[in-house]
Amino acid sequence: MPGEGAFDASLMLVGEAPGRNEDLMGRPFVGAAGAFLNDLLSSIGVDRNKVFITNVVKCRPPMNRPPRVDEVKACHPYLERQMALINPKMVCLMGNNAIKGVLGKGYSISSMHGKEVQTVDRRFFLTYHPAAALYVDRLKDTMMEDFKKLSEILKSTS
Ligand code: URA
Repeated sequence: MPGEGAFDASLMLVGEAPGRNEDLMGRPFVGAAGAFLNDLLSSIGVDRNKVFITNVVKCRPPMNRPPRVDEVKACHPYLERQMALINPKMVCLMGNNAIKGVLGKGYSISSMHGKEVQTVDRRFFLTYHPAAALYVDRLKDTMMEDFKKLSEILKSTS
């Protein structure tokens, strides 16, 4: 949940599903991936406490397995409602499960990261999942660059 003070509705970020710590705390991205997400956001001058961060799947899948398609579908109305209420200028989808869960199967992260996708009523920015950069070191720079592009897009449309 965003913290106190002015809420910045220009950006909403969507990950995959809560992990163990997120489930315990009821907050998204509080673990190691969250620490890197904080770095990414502060690199573009965005205060994490002011933007809305959520996941395509709202409960932690057992044994931290990736969410199943039926689980993503079951949670989709909640995500749709969150997007409708917040109505952000841009929704940043982080990782394949978020991208495919929201936009469908036709999007490959390796060719589409760092790019914007416009649907009938919403703008999406696609990037890797922050946890991926913890496993594949070169993705740290890639994600930093993606977030720079995201920042430029946000500035040019504000
Ligand atoms: N990974 C996610 O996709 N979401 C979280 O909230 C934490 C880790």
